[in-house]
Amino acid sequence: MSNYLSYKYKNLVPYVPGEQPRDRKYIKLNTNESPFIASGHVSLDSAIENIMLYSDPTCLKLREKFAGIFNVGIDEVMFSNGSDEMLNFAFMAYTDKLTPAAFPDITYGFYKVLCNVNNTPYTEIPLKDDFSIDVDDYVNLNKTIFIANPNAPTGLSLPLNEIERIVKTNPNNIVVIDEAYVDFGGETAVPLIKKYDNLLVIGTFSKSRSMAGARVGYAIACEKIIKDLNAIRYSLNPYNINSLSMLLAINILDNNDKVLGNIEKIIENRAYLTSELQKLGFETLESKANFIFTKTDKMSGKELYLKLKEKGVLVRHFDSDRIKDYVRITVGTKYELDTLIKKTKEILGV
Ligand SMILES: *Cc1c(COP(=O)(O)O)cnc(C)c1O
Repeated sequence: MSNYLSYKYKNLVPYVPGEQPRDRKYIKLNTNESPFIASGHVSLDSAIENIMLYSDPTCLKLREKFAGIFNVGIDEVMFSNGSDEMLNFAFMAYTDKLTPAAFPDITYGFYKVLCNVNNTPYTEIPLKDDFSIDVDDYVNLNKTIFIANPNAPTGLSLPLNEIERIVKTNPNNIVVIDEAYVDFGGETAVPLIKKYDNLLVIGTFSKSRSMAGARVGYAIACEKIIKDLNAIRYSLNPYNINSLSMLLAINILDNNDKVLGNIEKIIENRAYLTSELQKLGFETLESKANFIFTKTDKMSGKELYLKLKEKGVLVRHFDSDRIKDYVRITVGTKYELDTLIKKTKEILGV
């Protein structure tokens, strides 16, 4: 880093995205993207024709379409450049020295990064030994709570009544539920926004809607929270959704049947992968996401990850202590999973 960098960022530890190597063609099961195309036919002509104009900062057409499908008001939703951006808005809006953040010790790595960049103190609350969340830990916490539900990288999910207990017992604090994976079997907290003005649900088109490259995330909450977040958004980047991504997002909402079909396939493939790995002695957590978290006692998570990579299959391994035995595997197509299983058998010599 240069000597010019502000003291504020001298100790920054940036997020490390899952690797995207270009050295060869990999079966890519490491970053939880969808293996399926979701859109029907989308004509980019009209968007390109208007590309000299700024995109609509209010995202009105997209919000109207979205609000109809998600059964919320158009002032109860807003969009961001991927949900990572929305998470940052939420950390900026609702955490500071007096209002620290809290989240599980094993969860989405970005939360910690966003605390650091925003100079927010945080508490990591240990998950139970089985990696589930002890909801009692979050009752009357007096902190801004961030919970990924289903959680990453475990894939475990909390039922809606447990989420409601957390929201209800923290009336003086915002509770953020990150629903990046909710469509793969979790229960959404969106209906609760009508009842609680401290609930903020954040979601993304990157996973179930096959749009990771377009960068579209959203927030659903009561109007006042959406106003807060828009104030932050308009202070940083009012045109955060570009017009091409907006068009693609509207198109994908028009193709919801296709999205639902793809989700069904992922759920089917997840069961298949889990049972095939079980035959090889793997222990897998019960996933409600488009990935599984699994381990074998025959080798460490790191060794398995490295050997699979050598054979052209990418999975994700995390070095932190409690989960270093595991690998996280994105649920891909049947062909991708069969390749992964075949290579795993070769590695284990069975
Ligand atoms: C993938 C992911 C996100 C971010 O997705 P974007 O591509 O930025 O929308 C947010 N939270 C969790 C838990 C994720 O796994």
